Amino acid sequence: DAFNAAVAGADALNAFIVKTPDHAIAAADAADKARADGADLGALAGVPLGIKDLFCTEGYQTTAASGMLGGFVPTYESTVTAKLFGAGAGMLGKLNLDQFAMGSSNETSAFGNVISPWRRNDSGNAPLAPGGSSGGSSAAVAARIAPGATGTDTGGSIRQPAAFTGISGIKPTYGRCSRWGTVAFASSLDQAGAMAHDVRDCAIMLEAMSGFDAKDSTSVELSVPNWEAALSADLKGKKVGIPKEYRVDGMPADIEALWQQGIAWMKDAGAEIVEVSLPHTKYALPTYYIIAPAEASSNLARYDGVRYGLRDLPDGANLQDMYAATRAAGFGAEVKRRIMIGTYVLSAGFYDAYYTKAQKVRALIARDFAQAWEKCDVLLTPTAPSAAFALGEKSADPLAMYLNDVFTVPSSLAGLPAMSVPGGLDPQGLPLGLQIIGKPFDEQGVLNASLAIE
Ligand code: GLN
Repeated sequence: DAFNAAVAGADALNAFIVKTPDHAIAAADAADKARADGADLGALAGVPLGIKDLFCTEGYQTTAASGMLGGFVPTYESTVTAKLFGAGAGMLGKLNLDQFAMGSSNETSAFGNVISPWRRNDSGNAPLAPGGSSGGSSAAVAARIAPGATGTDTGGSIRQPAAFTGISGIKPTYGRCSRWGTVAFASSLDQAGAMAHDVRDCAIMLEAMSGFDAKDSTSVELSVPNWEAALSADLKGKKVGIPKEYRVDGMPADIEALWQQGIAWMKDAGAEIVEVSLPHTKYALPTYYIIAPAEASSNLARYDGVRYGLRDLPDGANLQDMYAATRAAGFGAEVKRRIMIGTYVLSAGFYDAYYTKAQKVRALIARDFAQAWEKCDVLLTPTAPSAAFALGEKSADPLAMYLNDVFTVPSSLAGLPAMSVPGGLDPQGLPLGLQIIGKPFDEQGVLNASLAIE
C-alpha cells in the first residue's frame, strides 16, 4: 500500500521512467530474513532507493532518458548499483533525467519533464523545474517517495537539483566512485554521488557506493573512510574560504543573503572565515562547455544502431544510411547540439584554438583551487545563482540554461568533492542551496562543514 501511494505521487511528478517494485520488495524481504536469522545486516539493508536511469541495471531497462537506448536491457550491473545492492538496498525504479545527463532542468528527457514538488507562493501552481540532470532523483527524494537516490554529476547535476528541491547531494572526488556501467557523458568529469534528505544519509549512501574498481581506469585505489562515524559539526580550528570571484555581477539579493547566512553559520560552528581568490573562475563555464561536449561527442559515437538500443533501418538502406537514420531519430535536440559543438571544437582546424586552449584553462582552474587550499580547508559558495525556475522558462535559450551551472562547474573541472545542502527559503518560499567544496579526497571535510549548515 505504501508503495502504491508513493507510485501515485511519483506519477504526478513523472519522476520514474520505470518502476521496479519487485526489486525493492525482494531487498526488504531479504533484510527481514537476515534480521530474523540474526545475520549481519548491510548498511542499507532493505532501504528502497531510486536509481538514476543512467546506471546500467542488469535485467532492467536502462535508457539515459533517450530514445537512442529504447529497448536496451543491460546484461550487467554498474559497479555503483552493485555496491548499493550488495549493502542491502533495493531499487524502487529507474529515475527520469535529462537525456544523457545533458541539461539543468530535466526538460531534455525523451520521457517528458519532471515536475518539482515545490511551488512558488505567488504564482498559483506554475510548475517548477526540479533541476537537472538528476531531476527525477531530486523530485523523488524531495517528495518523500524515496529516502535516497543515486545521481551523477558532470558539471553540477547532483548539486543544482538538490538545491532546487531542498535536499542534500554530494559529488565525491573524481575517482571515488567507479564509472563502470554508468552511461558515459564526459568521462573526465562524470562522477556518481548520493542524494538524500540530510548529510548523514548522504554519508551512509556515498560510503556504500565508493571504492576502487579495477574495471574503471580512473578509479582511485584508496580505502573508503567511515564518513558517517566521523561526522561532526564542530568546525573549531577549520578555515572556510569565501572565493571573491563567485560574487558575480547581478547576483540576486536573495542569493547574497543566503551566502551571508552561510558565513554566519560557519562562524557559529567555530570556523574562521578567510577571503580567497580563484582568478580563473570566469573562464570555467566556457571551458566546461567546450570539454564536456567534446568528450560527449566522442562517447556518443558508439550509438550506431548496431550495438545498443535503437536501430532505424529504412528500406534499401546501406550502413551509412542506417547510422544517419538511427542517430537522427534517437538523439534529442540538446544531445545533437552537444555533438555539433563537440565535433566542431575537436575538428582539425579548430582543435588548438578551442579544445587545447580549454584543457590549458582547466589546468589553471585546478591550480587556483590548489592555491586556495594553502589558506583554507573548505570553500563556501551558493550552489546556484537562483532558486528553481519555471518549466519552459529557459528551455528555448541554451545559454541561459548553461549559465545556471556557473557555481558548480569549476569544482567539477578540478575533480573536487562538493556538496549542496539546504540553506533556507527565498521570499517565494523556494529552497536555496549552499555549496561546500573540499580538497581532493576530503569528503569528510565537505560533509562536516555541510552538517554545520544543516
Ligand atoms: N547542466 C550541465 C550540463 O548540461 C551539467 C550536467 C551534469 O552534471 N550531468 O552539462
